[in-house]
Amino acid sequence: MLQFVSLAKPVGLATGFSSRFQLLKTVCYSLHSVSRALCSYGLLEKSCLKCHARLLKRFTAGACRTAQELTVCGDYTSAGSFSKKPLLQKVRETGRGHPFYGQFRRFQGFQASSAQGACPQDTLRANSPLQTSTHHRQRCSTVQETGSMELQEVVAVLKEIASPSLAGSWDNVGLLVEPSPPHQVRKILLTNDLTPPVMEEAVDEKVNMIVSYHPPIFAPLKRITQNSWKERIVGKCLENRIAMFSPHTSWDAAADGVNDWLIRACGDVTDLKPLEQTEAYRNGHTKKLSFITSSTEVEKVTVPLQGIPGVEILRETLSRGNAGDADMMKLSLTCAASTVATILNELQKGRTNIASLECSDMAKLPSLGFGMGRVGQLNPPVAIETVVSNIKKHLGLQHVQLARTEGKAQISTVAVCAGSGSSVLRGVTADLYLTGEMSHHEILDAVYRGTHVIVCNHSNTERGFLQVMQSRLSGLLGGKVEVVVSQIDRDPLTVV
Ligand SMILES: [Zn+2]
Repeated sequence: MLQFVSLAKPVGLATGFSSRFQLLKTVCYSLHSVSRALCSYGLLEKSCLKCHARLLKRFTAGACRTAQELTVCGDYTSAGSFSKKPLLQKVRETGRGHPFYGQFRRFQGFQASSAQGACPQDTLRANSPLQTSTHHRQRCSTVQETGSMELQEVVAVLKEIASPSLAGSWDNVGLLVEPSPPHQVRKILLTNDLTPPVMEEAVDEKVNMIVSYHPPIFAPLKRITQNSWKERIVGKCLENRIAMFSPHTSWDAAADGVNDWLIRACGDVTDLKPLEQTEAYRNGHTKKLSFITSSTEVEKVTVPLQGIPGVEILRETLSRGNAGDADMMKLSLTCAASTVATILNELQKGRTNIASLECSDMAKLPSLGFGMGRVGQLNPPVAIETVVSNIKKHLGLQHVQLARTEGKAQISTVAVCAGSGSSVLRGVTADLYLTGEMSHHEILDAVYRGTHVIVCNHSNTERGFLQVMQSRLSGLLGGKVEVVVSQIDRDPLTVV
């Protein structure tokens, strides 16, 4: 039980508040001071919402008018949770900019599941930068969180948006930093690059997960010390229990991904195709097993095989037997390479009569609409000046760099590659290339082959897609998780 103590500096409520919100704001502000003082006296283990709620009750109990007002407006319940929507809406509308806005936002995500009141499993960072999970798990285990999802559920949704298998084999995508479970995600920060200032932003915004388009960990780390900025970022993520996920080239290759967004910068582009088509094994099946058996044996063979996960069986009648003979059937099974031994084992156990057993490699098939870069048509053709203007508007840029080719005022075919377009655009026939960066010699080569080139710095061709992803991800997470885009992330190069 908390005890009220005399504080050196009075933090009691004043009268004459202009609104209930003003009142609450002041209560929380004062409460913050009180709880900090109580922590320092050792009377409050750590600051948490449950403790705040209890403390607030006691605090306001000493000031009849204010306690009454809080009770009357219905925002302060006996359970001690702020869960009434009107007040929260008011907080949203007017709280931003207040030094303790973060505390008000905390109130939004949680509701009391019992009469004991509400408490999140983490602390108010202003008071206690490190997690006090033991305190919360022991004392507040009945808390039901709303407005959050378990990390693995969020990761599953991100993988649905773009399978990591779409990424380049050289890339490093997926979940790169995972705090120890359980890890509830209430807020996600989207960024193009996870730089030290963006990391600070993530900590200040109290996010539980960062989705960084470029992988912050690429070269293998042998240690996590304070010696390099990348190591410090990983350390900060772990200290602050922030998960890190990177989609990188899986978003590039995805249908409706970064490159589909980028090519629309040129105008109303149709007939979109990837420049490098993604190819994939159908259902991930890399092997095909074939054999011949009689129709009377088919069920005996197929029934046990159907119980093996990830096996697809095809039947084909080879020949009609003569009178009294069974038909001959060819059975083909496709599966992952790791399943072949299980299938052969099953066939052997069944003691069935099979002949002409063969195992072959499956071929990858083109995944239509998926791949690196895009090419498309502007129909009717559009003046290069208009295309430049469209691109600036779409990417939100004041300037782009244009290398003009002679004698081509109208643009029909456009080819784009987000980021560095050097290898993907090489040799592509188009009236215009749009990319983040190309080397001097590659630009010269393109221009004297009849292609205009627009470059606008690497990440400027990627960053705007985060806005698309913000609403897409938020929708797919059912609105349970707040998704925000970094306000600090920007390309390191600027025109000065
Ligand atoms: Zn890039």
